[in-house]
Amino acid sequence: MRTYVYDFADGGMDMKDLLGGKGANLAEMTRLGLPVPPGFTITTEACRTYLDTGDLPEGLSACVAAHVSRVESLMGRELGNPADPLLLSVRSGGRFSMPGMMETILDIGLTDAGVAGLAAASGDERFAWDCYRRLISMYGSTVEGVPGEEFEQALASHRRAAGVATDPELSASDLRDLVEEYKKIFHAHTGRPFPQDPAEQLEGAVLAVFRSWNTERARVYRRAEHIPDDLGTAVNVMAMVYGNRGPRSGTGVAFTRDPATGARGVYGDYLPNAQGEDVVAGIRDTLPLQELARLDAPSFARLGSAMETLERHYRDLCDIEFTIEEGRLWLLQTRVGKRTAAAAFIIAAQLVDEGTIDLDEALRRVDGTRLARLMFPRFDLSGAPEPITTGVPASPGAACGRVVFDSRRAAEATGPVILVRRETNPDDLPGMLAATGILTSRGGKTSHAAVVARGLGRTCVCGAEELDVDAEGRMFRVGDLVVREGDLLSVDGATGKVYLTALPVRPSPVVRYFEGELEAGSSPLVSAVDRMMARADAVRRLEVQANADTPEDAARARRFGAAGIGLCRTEHMFLGERRALVERLILAEEEGDVRAALDALLPLQRADFTRILEVMDGLPVTIRLLDPPLHEFLPSLEELVARTAAAPDDPALEHDRTMLSAVRRMHESNPMLGLRGVRLGLLVPGLFAMQVQAIGEAAAHRAAAGGHPLPEIMVPLVGDVRELAAVRAEAERVLAGVAGAPPIPIGTMIEVPRAALTAGDIAREAEFFSFGTNDLTQMTWGFSRDDVEGTIFPAYLRLGVIDESPFESIDRRGVGRLVRLAVEGGRAVRPDLRIGVCGEHGGDPASVRFFHETGLDYVSCSPYRIPIARLEAGRAALPAST
Ligand code: ADP
Ligand code: MG
Ligand code: MG
Repeated sequence: MRTYVYDFADGGMDMKDLLGGKGANLAEMTRLGLPVPPGFTITTEACRTYLDTGDLPEGLSACVAAHVSRVESLMGRELGNPADPLLLSVRSGGRFSMPGMMETILDIGLTDAGVAGLAAASGDERFAWDCYRRLISMYGSTVEGVPGEEFEQALASHRRAAGVATDPELSASDLRDLVEEYKKIFHAHTGRPFPQDPAEQLEGAVLAVFRSWNTERARVYRRAEHIPDDLGTAVNVMAMVYGNRGPRSGTGVAFTRDPATGARGVYGDYLPNAQGEDVVAGIRDTLPLQELARLDAPSFARLGSAMETLERHYRDLCDIEFTIEEGRLWLLQTRVGKRTAAAAFIIAAQLVDEGTIDLDEALRRVDGTRLARLMFPRFDLSGAPEPITTGVPASPGAACGRVVFDSRRAAEATGPVILVRRETNPDDLPGMLAATGILTSRGGKTSHAAVVARGLGRTCVCGAEELDVDAEGRMFRVGDLVVREGDLLSVDGATGKVYLTALPVRPSPVVRYFEGELEAGSSPLVSAVDRMMARADAVRRLEVQANADTPEDAARARRFGAAGIGLCRTEHMFLGERRALVERLILAEEEGDVRAALDALLPLQRADFTRILEVMDGLPVTIRLLDPPLHEFLPSLEELVARTAAAPDDPALEHDRTMLSAVRRMHESNPMLGLRGVRLGLLVPGLFAMQVQAIGEAAAHRAAAGGHPLPEIMVPLVGDVRELAAVRAEAERVLAGVAGAPPIPIGTMIEVPRAALTAGDIAREAEFFSFGTNDLTQMTWGFSRDDVEGTIFPAYLRLGVIDESPFESIDRRGVGRLVRLAVEGGRAVRPDLRIGVCGEHGGDPASVRFFHETGLDYVSCSPYRIPIARLEAGRAALPAST
């Protein structure tokens, strides 16, 4: 028979699929001998069965009962024993951490009769009522769907009636009255009294946790984080320990290092006389964890040593949830902690220096997505006004946008927005996703806003206490200053400062380092990035090249570590003043006119190529012959119609009229499937020949000047080998006539599915392949790239048809299969065929890994993504972690 329930003593950290992250780590801590309250985990498999069938797996209830007995005997208390009841917490926890997304219910097992027993056993009546009111509200909202606000409003009105500001100041009799009111609220919504059978409470709570896997907010979070929907959650059931037993008790969260900077030390928040979510909810202001050293030195010392044990064991930054009950420390959760992008690099380097991990492991722990974040610009503060306030810098970045006060407005807004709230809760998730920055007036670095923003990579400043946020009134005040919805705000996630203006931004230190403007040793972050890049370069097999069309881009690409240009587009060279020459070419009626237009373009193209070959001297430069439809260089049909219609007979408009008829003649229903790429080369006489001539002459010129030019010629949009053969024959003839030109390889893009399918034939005529994965994706899916991102993808993402845009990250199953086919087909004919990719995917972390696995020789991407591709190519080449 399957085991659906594991005691903490029987699990371990390698069982995350079955026990979830929280359960696996609770088990690991138990095995390490750390003080964890006894408990057990109901597996994700049980959850999946329940969600699939609507029933609990057979025998589960009996099994749970047996495990409860074990907890009872370890704790010396019994569930439902009115004299001294055992209380339990019921907590969700799936394979991947989803902070604040799912449910926890504390104090399960308390009943009318049990309150008296708990009061007597603890000698504290207030404490007993406090537990009961927490249970009824958490159970009511989580299990029965009673709106949480009703409980909160009742609590607030009792605070007002008692004339106190915080919950711990409420007396035992206040809380007893509150419980009565909570029960009425519960009854009003469910039509039943609050359940007095602890076993019923426990089962209700377990099922509610299972169901919470499918709440809307959990789904939204999973979609944003690319977590599969079918994993299910485990449920952890454990004995309660009480942080709300008075001033010698409390609850907190701790990090073994600063998750924002990586600085070592005991770091976190503590809240005396509190239970559960009080800390994260930001309803009361927490103390810095260091204060605990003063309040309760022995517990602080025990916490410090437990944290050391955990860091050593997990070999990484850990975050911890703990509770102190009357001077006794309990650990309630740990995990390898989330961290900012900068901290990820810094901590990885620190752990290497401390001898805890090796460089390969450090490289595994950083990634291109984080590196990309570090390359974001920062605010330029020269000339900035005084900040209007300063809060806690909780998630880095420079966010600038218009103020909004709720999720709906954030989602509706067209430009960037800053979401301003007193505090956030899981319902704010859509707004946090839509915002570039988040600003709250309450809560510390471990508040919901901070944790979620860090996870999502949004800039966040929290706990800006001077803010008086009036979300209903759509404004906030700072002193006398009033800021309204729509005002421009700049939020600096590095310093916590908030400015009432749109500040200019400047490059990040990491970019300046790649530019060669900062030394590797200039800061711990830059030094850590430098070390990871060096390791990645040492181990990677994939070469990284650049997509660059101008000498400036080419020079930057070289500084950023490109080994050449994998895609030099020539269409940009036909814009500006040169449009007139393209017009002449299109309008030419006789061969002589065509010749003249091409002759005028030739020296311009030659000069373009000469400059790029000079900048990239000694490195390959793959020049793509003209790709887009020619009419892209002409004025639009609408424009010409409007101009000529106004004055049909005006002789000054003769040229426009000629142009109009040319544009009409060239009109195509599907230009992306029309006269472009190699088809232009075959149908517009002399066009490709002129470009090849310019490339040959530029190379000859550079060689004569003592340079080492390495141009390559790439033919776009080939679908059949005969297209390529014809272009190649012409190119070879042209090059044979250029004196002093070095040998120039001729290859093709693979971007039409037919090219991938017939790659073996095409390889006979191609000295290299370069996958144009943008067109290949467009044509494989039949998606018009320029349209679907706005029209179809939002719905497809919502419907779960796709998990992410196939234009951002390679579609392994479909497009990827064509890539594999083409690699096999091409190399079967020409074993030394050089193969690369020059679509957007060349700089996407997940896609780089795929190209490594598929045996490509290089990826080519835009200059700013070169470091990302280098890093990911290195990570892809690492052996699996041991
Ligand atoms: P989340 O995943 O949202 O952090 P948790 O399951 O960790 O939710 O529960 C939230 C909080 O509830 C914990 O941080 C802890 O303070 C409190 N809690 C959970 N279990 C217990 C317990 N057995 N005794 C006391 N407090 C608990
Ligand atoms: Mg937790
Ligand atoms: Mg293309």
